[in-house]
Order: sequence, then C-alpha cells, then structure tokens
Amino acid sequence: MNPLENAIKLIEKYCYESPQELDLLKLLYAEDLKLKEEPLNDCEGKILFDNEMGLITLNNKIKDERQKRFTLAHEMGHFFNEKHLIELKKNNYTCGFEEFYGLNKSKRWENKANEFAAELLMHKPWFQSFTKNKLPGMELIQETSEYFKVSLTATALRYVFIGQYPTAIIMSKDGKVLWSAINEYFPLKWIPVGYKVRKESAAYDYFDCKEVQKCKDLIPAYTWFSDDFKCPRDLYFYEQNFVMYNYDCVLTMLWEWEG
Ligand SMILES: [Zn+2]
Repeated sequence: MNPLENAIKLIEKYCYESPQELDLLKLLYAEDLKLKEEPLNDCEGKILFDNEMGLITLNNKIKDERQKRFTLAHEMGHFFNEKHLIELKKNNYTCGFEEFYGLNKSKRWENKANEFAAELLMHKPWFQSFTKNKLPGMELIQETSEYFKVSLTATALRYVFIGQYPTAIIMSKDGKVLWSAINEYFPLKWIPVGYKVRKESAAYDYFDCKEVQKCKDLIPAYTWFSDDFKCPRDLYFYEQNFVMYNYDCVLTMLWEWEG
C-alpha cells in the first residue's frame, strides 16, 4: 500500500476525527512500537524494525514538541510503509534535516516516510477545512502549525502541496537555494538548486547581516525566477520569510499578488 493509504488506515482504525484526538504515543504503543529518547549526534530520529515491531529513538535535544511529533510520525512511516518488504531491503534508518526536508528525489523511502507523516498528522480533509478561505502568509502557516502541532516547514510544504492557493516555498542556506516546492497553480515553476538569493529578497538580509524583516513584502517575480526566461518583468509576488535559527536556514514563502 502507498504511504497515504497506510496513514488513512490508522486514522480510520482508531476513529480519529481531528488532530487533537491523535495521540501519537498511544498510537505508537498500540501498534507494537517502542520509543526511547537519548542524545543523538547529527540526526533527529532513528528506527530499527522487523515485520512485527520496531524501536524508535528520538533525539532528546529536540525541544520543540511540533518537531518531535513530525520526527516521530516520520519514523513510524518507515515502519508502516516498509515492514512488509523487510526481506528485500534495509530495516534501519537514521533521519535528520536532509531526510525530513531535503526533498531529495533519490531518497525514495525518506520521501514516503514524509508523505505518511504529513497525511497522518495533517490529514487532507482536516487540513483543507482548516486553511480554507484564509489568506496565505507565514502567519497562517504558524497558526496551522500550532493547530496541527507539526513543524513549520512540514506545515508549509503541506500547504504548498494540497492548498488551493498559488504559493511556493523556498529553503535557503548560506545565500543559496537548497530546495523549493511550488504549488501547481503558481504561475512560475522552477528555481534551480544553488540559485543565489538576490538582494531584492529580505532573505538576503539574513545571510548578509543576520537580520530579516518579518512582515510580508511585495517583490518582483524575477527576484526568485531570473533563470526562467518566461518570467514577466511586471509580475510581482508577496514574500515573507522565517528564519530557522537551529539550521541557519531561511524559509521563504511566496504567493500571488492580485494587483
Ligand atoms: Zn527517515
């Protein structure tokens, strides 16, 4: 079964009707998973499993409950997605920032674990009804992330992938784009990995002087899409940035300006 079906099966099995009813720890123990928390170096979570049970280790340095929940759900994703394939493939994973948010297409099983976690924690009908008719922006992502108790980046990605508003999110570090995720309704489609953050973006200020304005800003589309020869000069987007100090990264959100 695919990751979405695996997550939905659990939601139905335990009759969860809202994110508030979803007690991950209870679910974990009911499904023959064990959990321990200890200091881990260079990763947030680990799992070792066979086709019946699994042991998840969480990094006890994670202080943010929302990040903890996403990490836990991601590790559970490895178990539910892969326990039937155990004879064919590896049965242990070490997962960190790159695995959760790297959007590396070659890491197939990491992406599937993320898809499972996103569906379980932010079940599509719950997510769409919560965000419906609300204006996009970092405030909405923050509010949604608190409601679903999921990390900000995971929430922003979910918003881009299943939201009905044209949006894009970009993760950058050291002045360069690590990855971007662009909603199907967004007018432009492509930002290359390694794209240099331009001065027109407030994200640039963080890499320049470690300061960034929190409010939204109207910026020309070529700020992020100058490599796209189809990018119109008179197209503008709203931009808003959020600094992830733990990772020294900036998460940028773009959405359409109906000027
Ligand atoms: Zn993983």
